Amino acid sequence: MQIQQVGDRLIRCSRLRMFNCYLVRESDGMTLVDTCTAGSGAQLIAAARAAGSEITRIVLTHAHWDHTGGLAELHALLPDVPIAIGTREARLLAGDDSLDPNEPDRPIPGIGRGSAVTPTTLLRDGEMIGSLKAVATPGHTPGHLAFFDVRNNTLLAGDALYTLGIGGLGVAGTFRWTMPVSAWFTWDRPSALVSARRLAALRPARIAPGHGRVIERPAGAFDRAIGIAQRQFQRQTLR
Ligand SMILES: [Zn+2]
Repeated sequence: MQIQQVGDRLIRCSRLRMFNCYLVRESDGMTLVDTCTAGSGAQLIAAARAAGSEITRIVLTHAHWDHTGGLAELHALLPDVPIAIGTREARLLAGDDSLDPNEPDRPIPGIGRGSAVTPTTLLRDGEMIGSLKAVATPGHTPGHLAFFDVRNNTLLAGDALYTLGIGGLGVAGTFRWTMPVSAWFTWDRPSALVSARRLAALRPARIAPGHGRVIERPAGAFDRAIGIAQRQFQRQTLR
């Protein structure tokens, strides 16, 4: 696992420099945002300890395996640490991929059998968890949440945005030859675009995505990414 300190309050933990989760420093310990792939639990606890702290909360952006893979192991090692996920996404975490009547009627890719771990806290849009504000960002999955650190305007984007592959920042669902996975595993592109606009309006100073590197001062990259998504998704609708 690669460990990268980003500023004074954020640590990026990644596998293959591809699958990210993050430790966010709070006054009472570390909030772990996502749990990376299976087998990561002990290393994430060690990463928090190496930084002189302990994991005191776990929050999940969404239910895909590469974000929840380490959850069972972490829960076994840290049984008293609360686990939070969005209210809508909790159903997906439990393996229920049924859609609500008001949701676009498309199958949700990438939902497996479900996790045996039951979250302790269900989050709604705008709720705070430590210094992180939950931002409802449906599109990649129906109940996806991003988290915005209100102390330093760092956006933990989950898979609503990505920076993997050549081309810098991308909106979930945008296809690029060097990173086709986001397009394959994004549920509803029009919602993903609306969510990206919502995130851009927060004017983040830094974006820490689920896949790819952390970027600073992303305003210009954000405009370009939204423009590309708009054109790509429009072509797909016309086809
Ligand atoms: Zn995902």
